[in-house]
Amino acid sequence: MTAGAAVATHCPYCALQCGQELTPGASPDGAGPPVTVAPRQFPTNNGGLCQKGWTSAAVLRAPDRLTTPQVRGADGRLAPASWDAALDLVAGRLAALAAEHGPGAVAVFGGGGLTNEKAYTLGKFARAVLRTPYIDYNGRFCMSSAAAATNRAFGLDRGLPFPVADLAGADAVLLLGSNVAETMPPFVQHLAGARAAGGLVVVDPRRSATARLAGPGEGVHLQPVPGTDLVVLLALVHVLVAERLVDRAYLDARTSGFDDVARSAAAWWPERAETVCGVPAEELRRVARLLAAASPWRGGRGAYVLTGRGVEQSAQGTATVTAAIDLALALGLPGRAGSGYGCLTGQGNGQGGREHGQKCDQLPGYRRIDDPVARAHVAGVWGVDPGTLPGPGVPAVELLTLLGAPGGPRALLVHGSNVVVSAPDADRVRERLAALDLLVVCDVVPSETALLADVVLPTTQWAEEEGTMTNLEGRVLRRRRAVDPPGEARSELWVLAELARRLGSDVAFPTDPAAVFDELARASAGGVADYSGLSHTRLDAHEAAGGAGLYWPCPATPADLSGRARVVPSAGPDNSGPRELSGPAEGIAGAHPDNSRGEHPGTPRVFLDRFATPDGRARAVAVEHAGPSDDVRPDAPTYLVTGRVLQHYQSGAQTHRVAELERLVPEPYVELHPLLGLRVGVPDGGRARLASARGVVEATARWTDAIRPDTVFMPFHWSGEGSVNRLTTDAVDPVSAMPEFKVCAVSVTPAAAAGPVEHDEPLEVLA
Ligand code: SF4
Repeated sequence: MTAGAAVATHCPYCALQCGQELTPGASPDGAGPPVTVAPRQFPTNNGGLCQKGWTSAAVLRAPDRLTTPQVRGADGRLAPASWDAALDLVAGRLAALAAEHGPGAVAVFGGGGLTNEKAYTLGKFARAVLRTPYIDYNGRFCMSSAAAATNRAFGLDRGLPFPVADLAGADAVLLLGSNVAETMPPFVQHLAGARAAGGLVVVDPRRSATARLAGPGEGVHLQPVPGTDLVVLLALVHVLVAERLVDRAYLDARTSGFDDVARSAAAWWPERAETVCGVPAEELRRVARLLAAASPWRGGRGAYVLTGRGVEQSAQGTATVTAAIDLALALGLPGRAGSGYGCLTGQGNGQGGREHGQKCDQLPGYRRIDDPVARAHVAGVWGVDPGTLPGPGVPAVELLTLLGAPGGPRALLVHGSNVVVSAPDADRVRERLAALDLLVVCDVVPSETALLADVVLPTTQWAEEEGTMTNLEGRVLRRRRAVDPPGEARSELWVLAELARRLGSDVAFPTDPAAVFDELARASAGGVADYSGLSHTRLDAHEAAGGAGLYWPCPATPADLSGRARVVPSAGPDNSGPRELSGPAEGIAGAHPDNSRGEHPGTPRVFLDRFATPDGRARAVAVEHAGPSDDVRPDAPTYLVTGRVLQHYQSGAQTHRVAELERLVPEPYVELHPLLGLRVGVPDGGRARLASARGVVEATARWTDAIRPDTVFMPFHWSGEGSVNRLTTDAVDPVSAMPEFKVCAVSVTPAAAAGPVEHDEPLEVLA
């Protein structure tokens, strides 16, 4: 490939969606990646990239990149096949299984990294072609507790209901369970204002890279017992109420239910909370006062409460996020410019991926699948009878449990997910996949899940495709193609259209991403996540005029519908600057066409006028602390917490194939306090064996005083003997069905003291 014009796009990895510029052109020896990556000025990254972003091009030409379909033969090995042969086989098996067992015999598992267009098409394929209720996605593992809590409190789930750059103007930011300094390093710049004001508060059982940003004069690090973040939050609310630091005028005008919250928090005075969460009572009081001083009603410049996976991936994740929202409401923050509550979405399209219909209970536009009006609208866009659409399915963990079980799905189509590494209780997931009659995996590399499949279909990725992503701010961005895909890799849009045709469906499946987006926009019209005023053309024109994506809700206006809009490119208001708070002060979804073409400008800040609840008020909800589902006990006396490292992403399917990253962190490890290491006889650099009620893993021990002596930490980016999800529990939050990845009970012993770990079966190398 010869050098070409630079292409403006975004990083393939996390939800910060840092701006990148890709310059096509092979390296002089022709062996390197087909594009050069450079950072690009964008409001979320301001020209920065982390190591993953800088090295992202290496995955395009990974040595084992999937370039042809693979079908498992009679000899049990995967072997190359033509697209026709692979798709005919898949369609034939799906049709036969559905004919024998009914439409529920086929299940679909999606991913939060898929573009909006792919996620939409996957949901449409499941409901309108397969007619199966069984579809869910790996975002269930990431976002569902925050989504459940924010939907209940605000009537709408948009991770950050404000531009990320707004954070810079606040005096305080409370960060619960999020290690942004490793997961999304360019985000850290947005915390500078709070650090300068001494107001960065980090709640984490580890003194993580992010917690170290809250040093003396910069903020406070609270280091609670794992699984007790909810108690910390209840105690903070208690102090605010007891010391009359709640914004009573705001609560009266904009919320309901806070009296119940105050009553329940009354039981959590700081000294009592300290006995459960381990955070000194005076620290709890200090943080409550710090947050109150930063709040606008007390004369501060603003404050934010932000949650991440550390508190959300819990059997009480929805309750914990609810308590974080209650705290923010007590301080008068949500729906106020320069303050608020937000959830830090993880996966690249973790936001868009949960809006367009790959959740088990959802139709596009963040509509409920059990809503007759929503069913009629979406069925109309798809050209099908609403009565043929299935009802709600089951969430991811339950879906994986049903695979191959009596009455459960017999076939699974996996798109953009590596469930045997990323799902909890990984050994059991592997067993369920083995019980299927047919496993089909669409992916770019032979992930651990792909290597178990009967059919593997090679797909396009990131720099090889057009589409849109919706980042952690609800900002809809354009992903752009810079290079051709290798070999015979094809877009899932084409794969699903071909399968639909082979299955005899007369439902139209466009394969042009712009056309898919236009259909998605129509399907979303009038929904909570309304994209109907957006199109690839408008997003491109907006960017060409200096804009940086448009935020949903962005409903179509009469001008859009008459076709007058989209003619003259204009950036329109973006309001991404830290104190640029004078942009559209629209409420949740009101059409405020305020540019010369009558287009809706998008909604950078939701809730400024009202919340998206029927009465416009935010709901404060009293919650109770129950503790971890798998708590410490004599035979498992140590907490295990899991998380990420800077160099790897999710299951590692991509980043393990980047030599620079793999060199830096080549294997899993266990962090433990020296006191624990001495007590259990695991030296620094020795091998530790961790056992839970579900499995056993081994990894190299790293001593550090940055972790509590009652806790060990393992990153989750590996399979095999160091796959920490062999230990984690599949207990789920009762509201969100999110698994409790973040805490379980383990025993820690020297590896040599016990027998060998039972290894996964050796992974077969693709022919
Ligand atoms: Fe930015 Fe996230 Fe990509 Fe790193 S991984 S460059 S933080 S988008």
